[in-house]
Amino acid sequence: MTADSSDVFLEFDRVQKSYDQQTLVVRNFNLSVARGEFVTLLGPSGSGKSTVLMMLAGFESLTSGDIRLQGRSIARTAPYDRDIGMVFQNYALFPHMSIAENLAYPLKIRKQPKDEIARKVREYLELVELGNFGNRTPAQLSGGQRQRVALARALIFAPRLVLMDEPLGALDKKLREQMQLEITRLHKQLGFTVIYVTHDQSEALTMSNRIAVFNAGVVQQCDAPETLYETPCNGFVADFIGENNFLPGELVALEGDVALVRISSGDVVRTRKADADKVGMRCNVSVRPEKLFLMPSDHPFDTTFSARFANKLYVGDFIRYFFALPDGTELVVKVLNDLAAPDYAEGQEVTLAAATRDCSAFAPHRPQEAD
Ligand code: ADP
Ligand code: MG
Repeated sequence: MTADSSDVFLEFDRVQKSYDQQTLVVRNFNLSVARGEFVTLLGPSGSGKSTVLMMLAGFESLTSGDIRLQGRSIARTAPYDRDIGMVFQNYALFPHMSIAENLAYPLKIRKQPKDEIARKVREYLELVELGNFGNRTPAQLSGGQRQRVALARALIFAPRLVLMDEPLGALDKKLREQMQLEITRLHKQLGFTVIYVTHDQSEALTMSNRIAVFNAGVVQQCDAPETLYETPCNGFVADFIGENNFLPGELVALEGDVALVRISSGDVVRTRKADADKVGMRCNVSVRPEKLFLMPSDHPFDTTFSARFANKLYVGDFIRYFFALPDGTELVVKVLNDLAAPDYAEGQEVTLAAATRDCSAFAPHRPQEAD
């Protein structure tokens, strides 16, 4: 969506998919990807991410629309002619072959010369730090090592495009973080283009140049990680990425890009106008726990409101303060655990403050639309 038409590498053009000729599981999907970009499809389970990848790989047909790679439609190209590398969570290695033979396989079927294959296998084993493991079989490796072999096998024939569908889903947290760094390092070093699928928002935020957030087959927003986190376009994205408070209220006035919302405490809070844009409508003010401040008497905040203190939770380096609004809404404020962290009595009324740009006015989440 941001790529200039001159350097568009991969383009989804109004792509739609229905498996049963009734329900669209991917709707009007448009995305332009620049060469070398790392783009992640992020969304809850069943939102259509894998379906997009399957259509790109050629394992599923398009119901309508087109996919172009370097300007040419690939909608009717056979999977093995698309020059795409793939790593899936359960994309098994050949169990009866050694690791070196597994890596050699994509080169053999591309009929590369023997000495060239041997050289590349050595190079790619080193690249994923498995130089001494060429003679082992997959069963003799750990899960993380196997996944590194799968990665090397997807990259060894220097594909122009690499697809990864939840490739780290089966690994424990520590290995997953190691592999995230590994994939990021290889992407920087080798410069291939990646379409990555995950339902894990922190994985998406740390690895991607851009993230397309899916819900019920529809892209909600496609932007750089920081933009998604700081300026989500609707309540779904605000809720799905990071943590957020949602304070129900009524939109009472609009002043350019600022929406004024009356919440249940009676305060009118100034917010960034998002998809709630009509005076009189019900909406939610969303503000992240780390963007709310306590007792800001000496701070120039333009949005303040009062809430009653409920309790607090020590998390070590910070403290989570819980408050309640008159309508029962709970909210949380994340505060550094330093000398300034205040003490309150239960039920005490406290003024909370935030910058207008860190508060957004969102229409209530739309329920997932049926067709
Ligand atoms: P995600 O990868 O985001 O979890 P999928 O693309 O796998 O989502 O699935 C999107 C929707 O399409 C789901 O409702 C799923 O049940 C349905 N679906 C996926 N694959 C098939 C299939 N081969 N046949 C019929 N329905 C499918
Ligand atoms: Mg999936």
